[in-house]
Amino acid sequence: MNEPSSSDSMRELVKQHFRQQFSAEARWCVFSPGRINLIGEHVDYSGGLVLPAAIDRWMVAAIGVNGRNEVRLFDARFELSACLPLRVPLAVEKGSWLNYPKGVLSQIQERGITIPGFDLCFSSNLPTGGGLSSSAALEVMVATAVELVAGIQLDPREKARLCQQAEHRHAGVPCGIMDQAAVVLAREGHFLLLDCADFSVEHVRWESSQAELMLIDSGVHHQLASGEYRNRRDAVEKAAAEMGVSSLREVTSDQVRAFAFSEAVLGRRALHVATEIERTRAAVTCLVQGDCDHLGKLIQQSHHSLRYGFEVSCPELDFLASCCNAQPGVMGSRMMGGGFGGSVLVLLERAAAPALQSVIELAYREQFGLKASFLMTRPSGGVRVEACCGSL
Ligand code: ADP
Ligand code: MG
Repeated sequence: MNEPSSSDSMRELVKQHFRQQFSAEARWCVFSPGRINLIGEHVDYSGGLVLPAAIDRWMVAAIGVNGRNEVRLFDARFELSACLPLRVPLAVEKGSWLNYPKGVLSQIQERGITIPGFDLCFSSNLPTGGGLSSSAALEVMVATAVELVAGIQLDPREKARLCQQAEHRHAGVPCGIMDQAAVVLAREGHFLLLDCADFSVEHVRWESSQAELMLIDSGVHHQLASGEYRNRRDAVEKAAAEMGVSSLREVTSDQVRAFAFSEAVLGRRALHVATEIERTRAAVTCLVQGDCDHLGKLIQQSHHSLRYGFEVSCPELDFLASCCNAQPGVMGSRMMGGGFGGSVLVLLERAAAPALQSVIELAYREQFGLKASFLMTRPSGGVRVEACCGSL
């Protein structure tokens, strides 16, 4: 099993790199986590309900002011460095990781906040592009760094929103608000019930004795993901318009079933959204009542709906999910995130994990010639700050 490096070792690593890169001591450390989503997939941009949690894997940064008109970045994991000037517009560079920090800096500047120059050295134990939202972790890490160096505190929802806008405008990904909200607002040991219609949140307790959560990274990322994501957004908007509502949040699955859409595909997309929102509500009841068996069923139904209704799965994810569901001690599994690759989330009994890993690893390699990676996780706290020297 792929164990996360401890937060202590990551903190020391980035502080050391900071010293080497910038010949100074870092003043603060920021831990910006990745996230999972228990259920409520592809519904955030329809104003739906989602149930994410931050995880115990992070992007970790060491930060200090530098007295210059620029932000110097060093990515210790991939050995990338960059220098971003603060007094000129930061242009989009197609395909570059720098679009995320650039987008966040630009969004903050557009809000009239003056950003002092700073240095930031970071590393990460989060897979990139694996559906755990390393992109939101990166954005929130940079936004938090700016709060520290500028001596301000952004409203947490505004912070999530500006990170989302950075992803839209600079990275060109028209994502919903779930990822950034989870990274900013999550609470240790809880899932975050987020209502994407009005941005209200409720923290729903996770009893760790109930079951365990495993993530399986399929190792595949199909190219069509971003184009298809836009198509799905267009389809749900069109379906809502045909039904005469501003978003599909406003309709029930029965209303969708009874409606005659202009194209059958719109009915399939809308039915996924409406039923997924209903499943998310039901999942909250399961968490409150400690009913993991039923929660597992809802998770399986979610995968089925994403596969056949929303059509965002792929053979690798379908194979992993159905193999897991057939194993002893597994309550349910499903594809997680945007789809067309990325990870599968498994709800299982603790004792079942080692056997499950060996069975799935072998079966996946035999079927696709690919190596799956496994990690156990649990709901953890959102972004947090530590003083490296002195007080916050
Ligand atoms: P996910 O958010 O699911 O991990 P995305 O495709 O949304 O996948 O975001 C991944 C992108 O985020 C990467 O292609 C890269 O640009 C950026 N990124 C993530 N982690 C790092 C990192 N450690 N260093 C630099 N860029 C990173
Ligand atoms: Mg992302």
